[in-house]
Amino acid sequence: MPATVNAAPAAPANVDPAELAKFQALASRWWDPHSEFRPLHEINPLRLEWIDRIASLSGKRALDVGCGGGILAEAMAQRGARVRGIDLAAKSLQVAQLHALESGAAVEYEHVSAEELAAREPHAWEVVTCMEMLEHVPEPESTVRACARLVEPGGWVFFSTINRNPKAFLLAIVGAEYLLRMLPRGTHEYGKFIRPSELAAAARRSGLELVELTGMTYNPVTQRYRLEPRDVDVNYLAAFRRSG
Ligand code: SAH
Repeated sequence: MPATVNAAPAAPANVDPAELAKFQALASRWWDPHSEFRPLHEINPLRLEWIDRIASLSGKRALDVGCGGGILAEAMAQRGARVRGIDLAAKSLQVAQLHALESGAAVEYEHVSAEELAAREPHAWEVVTCMEMLEHVPEPESTVRACARLVEPGGWVFFSTINRNPKAFLLAIVGAEYLLRMLPRGTHEYGKFIRPSELAAAARRSGLELVELTGMTYNPVTQRYRLEPRDVDVNYLAAFRRSG
């Protein structure tokens, strides 16, 4: 019998293969504004404006964690940021890369986890964004910690996710997936939603201070999204600053 190799087992990655498979299956449609990704296209100008107002993107080194097809990454590059997008869904990254070639956007993409990149390039970014991703990972706090490590002292970290309460269940799952069919059924799992207080606490443990919180609401009659600072009941965005 050959001796067993005495290598330390790799740390289990903070990734849910079933979640990645969902996004891989839809990858070709990232840039179709009428596809399953329509909501992301529609909220993109709102979140871009909000991020740019707070962090002044022009000339900054920005990292987009869980970038998917690059909807936000490209938009930040158009505002003058030097952007890298990372994701673990290889097909989405291929689509993102191809789209950047066509659009000429100054974005580079890499297939790497936030945790791995944080170990390799700590404090390398002035702005880190991680939108609509925390509710898809097994250990969101590990992602928050990695983002806190990726950003330089004084830099900005932005998260967006979905609150966890009965109204969020009704609107984000029953409403969006079953009644309005804006998202495929099974896109979101109630238990993975994150309360703003939980996000803020996890961020604080990682050295990030909450600076601004805003809700994002959807009006099914006008079919419009808007930022609504007083209503964080369902979708929300949070801006944190790294101490230091
Ligand atoms: N941030 C983008 C895409 C959101 S969809 C936007 O808001 O436009 C969620 C993305 O998270 C998908 O691209 C999916 O592949 C990615 N994702 C899920 N789990 C991940 C993980 N553990 N590491 C990196 N990316 C992940």
